[in-house]
Amino acid sequence: MKTQNPNDLRLAQLQHHRAARLAKGDPIAMPITSSASYHLPDIQDAPFLYGRNSMPTWAELESQLALLEDAPCLAFPSGMAAISAALMVGLGQGKTLVLPSDGYYVSRVFSACFLAPYGVRIIEAPILKMQDFDYSGVDVVLLESPSNPGLDLCDIAAISAKVHAAGGIVMVDNTTMTPLLQRPLDLGADVVLASDTKAPAGHSDVLFGHVASRNAAFMARVLDWRRLSGAVPGAFEAWLLHRGLETLELRLARMCASAEVIATRLLDSGLVQNLRYPGLKSDASYPLACKQMQGFGFIMGFDLPSADVAEAFLTNCPFIAQATSFGSTHSSGERRARWGDQVSPGFIRLSIGCEPVEPLWDAIFQALRQASAM
Ligand SMILES: *Cc1c(COP(=O)(O)O)cnc(C)c1O
Repeated sequence: MKTQNPNDLRLAQLQHHRAARLAKGDPIAMPITSSASYHLPDIQDAPFLYGRNSMPTWAELESQLALLEDAPCLAFPSGMAAISAALMVGLGQGKTLVLPSDGYYVSRVFSACFLAPYGVRIIEAPILKMQDFDYSGVDVVLLESPSNPGLDLCDIAAISAKVHAAGGIVMVDNTTMTPLLQRPLDLGADVVLASDTKAPAGHSDVLFGHVASRNAAFMARVLDWRRLSGAVPGAFEAWLLHRGLETLELRLARMCASAEVIATRLLDSGLVQNLRYPGLKSDASYPLACKQMQGFGFIMGFDLPSADVAEAFLTNCPFIAQATSFGSTHSSGERRARWGDQVSPGFIRLSIGCEPVEPLWDAIFQALRQASAM
């Protein structure tokens, strides 16, 4: 008998997750319901009260996301809306947050601008130092693995055990992986945060985010936060993400397979330095990636000799969209130093898309050769 990937059953269910609720004649494609108000002759047992509390289209999306995460999920209008909601719920005056100094920079800026002034103590540490960190007195630890953009990994299970022993909780920003490539809740983390703007929606046409957790009390507070702060997604955006999720597995399969091919060839080409891709056997993260990830992802990073060479490479390559963000059907790349990330001026983060790999590789190789001859 062939062994089943543990994701497979949920992925099959995902394509049919509305079926049990359908009445004869109901549309198979999920309808968009953007009503702000609902027929309420009385409020007892009404499934929907008012659009800021919940909407049928988010509810459908949340049940689909819950299958993927294997945990209750709440939808938010962006990744940052989800991350800020979870941090607001998990922290408060006098509490302490540890977050990566080399992770997604907007989470750091949010913490400094809005959590610190309300009396939260904020400690930044590099991803690679998280395992040896002393977590006594720490309430919330935010992890990112692989980190964006440096692609360092940390051991989510080991760190979660350590943080729990010290009385804190662990939140993982799982945006670079998605629930198909890494399952932080199964590794012992308490909360998963995600920007669905990236691979889950997958077409660069919508911002979205979600919070997932098996801690019911925590999720009740996140729901309160969404309802009371009013950080609610639109029905059309929820519909777009719902549609995107139906092809997530297929897109990821192509993207990850192509990324492995391209990373291997880049390594052999000698045209880039300090190539990072967790799926390369030579990468420092490879053993941990094999242990805690279900795939190696579609993002890689490398240095080119200067900002000019890096810009020339991106400009010369017809199949790399010059844009921030990652995880879309099209490959995209950018020089991260332009945002102030702690990387070299010629560092490129490359997100491999769904293009067939051979023309994509040819375009990358030619553009690199041209730029390197500058
Ligand atoms: C993009 C991103 C976010 C923020 O998501 P938005 O949808 O843009 O708000 C958070 N974390 C990581 C790792 C990201 O890459």
